[in-house]
Amino acid sequence: MDYFNYKNGKLFAEDTDVEKIADEVGTPVYIYSKATFREHLRKIQDAYSRLDTTICYSVKACGNINILGILAESGSGFDIVSGGELYRTLQTEVEPSKIVYAGAGKTDTEIVEALNANIGYFNIESEAELKNLIRLAKEQGKQPRAALRINPDVDPKTHSYTTTGKKETKFGVDIEQAQKVFADYGKNEAVQLCAIHIHLGSAGHTVEPYIEAIKKTLALIERLRSDGFAIETLNIGGGYGADYITATAPTAADYAAAIVPLLKGKNLKLILEPGASIAANAGILVTQVLYLKTSGRKKFVVVDAGMNDLIRPPLYDAFHFIWPVKVDKKFVPERRDKDLQLGGAVVVDVVGPICESADFFAKDRALPPVERSDLISVFTAGAYGFSMSSNYNARCRAAEVLVDGDKFTVIRKRESYEDLIGLEK
Ligand SMILES: *Cc1c(COP(=O)(O)O)cnc(C)c1O
Repeated sequence: MDYFNYKNGKLFAEDTDVEKIADEVGTPVYIYSKATFREHLRKIQDAYSRLDTTICYSVKACGNINILGILAESGSGFDIVSGGELYRTLQTEVEPSKIVYAGAGKTDTEIVEALNANIGYFNIESEAELKNLIRLAKEQGKQPRAALRINPDVDPKTHSYTTTGKKETKFGVDIEQAQKVFADYGKNEAVQLCAIHIHLGSAGHTVEPYIEAIKKTLALIERLRSDGFAIETLNIGGGYGADYITATAPTAADYAAAIVPLLKGKNLKLILEPGASIAANAGILVTQVLYLKTSGRKKFVVVDAGMNDLIRPPLYDAFHFIWPVKVDKKFVPERRDKDLQLGGAVVVDVVGPICESADFFAKDRALPPVERSDLISVFTAGAYGFSMSSNYNARCRAAEVLVDGDKFTVIRKRESYEDLIGLEK
């Protein structure tokens, strides 16, 4: 679900003409819909409202401070993975107690920053990290809450690069070891180890892995409680699907219908860390066609955005629906799908200007015919799009624009050549 739709063959972000934005701001440009961000968050809040739930939006999906501000204002907390992300969230009105901090490699500096910000939970990824947190908390005179991240050994059946809840990943502590970690460190003077965290990985498209992981985790919580440990919160992480293809991901209500009954009456507060399911459909990447070329039997559309702007296709083999911003009425897409069959479409590779053969957005994709200077939209680019962008090939990072109804605001300027070398002088 989102607010990017064609009206009379022209793509609109909410009530704003996408071509008009590109004309004023240039390309490549990320365009976000405020209403989409808010609605996705609200649907998750509503779905879990029968439990004591905090939604902690995962900042790494799309961390522009203006977007974080909108989500904080709408009641969201934040899931962070670095000191830099903590700094971003502290630019908003968020209550620090709604910030949770994960990551296998927190530095002492980052931990001290988070202690001083009085965040809600440290999500602990190893015994060594817990020991270090206890030491630093004592030094700082703080008594932070912590959740032990456990590895439920469940396969979300997603790409191996986005699988994080299996045994052979660097995240969390094996579920069998958890009781020992609590026995050794659960009662210390500094850190209140009072929660369990799981995160299965990203972009799963079924509810089953969550059910399996939560059941295993609840059994562990029961054992810990009977050992005398007060477990007050269960954080079930993120990874909920987004509609890269129209209406293919379970909705927040679908997930909640399976998850809420498992947790009813368990006397547990719930935390969720959705990233992509809030941000992905809330953004598009608009790029301009530079050249058309034919090599052997292949046709290429060369555009002005590259893998430095959006790396998901080569990195994760990710599918993004791609379509021209202006199309003949017969080409208005009814849904976003891999194999949209429309008479007159041309099969092309959509590629960027970077000197890498991994620099592609789509391969062998049927598109309406396009010409030099046409605008093209890469859909569902709001999550892990701009936040994973780089300056590779000394390319200036794209501008970010936020649409609200019929108004738009540049929320991050396009970088300049000066920005590229600014820190080198
Ligand atoms: C990345 C991440 C998330 C968000 O994942 P999505 O797939 O974007 O929902 C949540 N929690 C943790 C610990 C993460 O690392």
